[in-house]
Amino acid sequence: MHVVTNPGEDGNWGMSSQRSRADRQYHVVCRECVVEKLFESADDAAAAKLEHAKETGHQVVVGRVK
Ligand SMILES: [Zn+2]
Repeated sequence: MHVVTNPGEDGNWGMSSQRSRADRQYHVVCRECVVEKLFESADDAAAAKLEHAKETGHQVVVGRVK
């Protein structure tokens, strides 16, 4: 069973129009292997998440770090 729900983690990206603020980071973590990275932009984090998920079929989550 593969349930893709990440409550509270994926919902708010579209709302931030100020992308230049570096006071916030995005923590990309794979739940199925040891891959784990930090990004300063939601776009980069989302791209990394998609890339890893596509390559491996793993479930990857992105958490915001303040
Ligand atoms: Zn993985």
